[in-house]
Amino acid sequence: MSPQRITEAERSARVWVIDAAALLREPGSRRRIEIAGQLPGLAVSGSAIDDDEPVAISALLESVSEGILVSATVTSRWHGECRRCLEPASEQFTTETRELYSHDGSEDTYPLRGDQLDLAPLVRDACILELPLAPLCSTECAGLCPECGANRNSEPCTCSPAADPRWAALASLQETTATSAHEKDA
Ligand SMILES: [Zn+2]
Ligand SMILES: [Zn+2]
Repeated sequence: MSPQRITEAERSARVWVIDAAALLREPGSRRRIEIAGQLPGLAVSGSAIDDDEPVAISALLESVSEGILVSATVTSRWHGECRRCLEPASEQFTTETRELYSHDGSEDTYPLRGDQLDLAPLVRDACILELPLAPLCSTECAGLCPECGANRNSEPCTCSPAADPRWAALASLQETTATSAHEKDA
């Protein structure tokens, strides 16, 4: 690891840290912020947010008696592999979150460190819930032909009558059932 990389990672992590001193001094006050940055390492088994993918938030910070209440809209994009056709799948998502930052050290809140709050853990938690374990390139994805392996989204398959794409998923299900009933000949 070169010192330059560490500096870059630190610089990118600093984007999410907010100085809330003015808010904390004035209970009832509000501040709206917009941040776009990166949050490396966001992944589940089926999909991930690329390390250089922008993650954007629009947040309202409110000074309340318990600390700082953060209401945020989070937008980004995940990438993965379609569960049905194995082609790349990707989707933009937007999600809402509302959490409290406090000094009390409880597990139900995010920590205020002095006058600073780090939005990165909150945004990470909101994003991870949006990552699909079994992503689809499209809800209408017709998948691969279980007989010849053709991608039914792009190649009309001769193994079965040309199906209406809306029925293809169902047909594929029925075929799977039929195949397993006869014990799949691998
Ligand atoms: Zn697909
Ligand atoms: Zn086929």
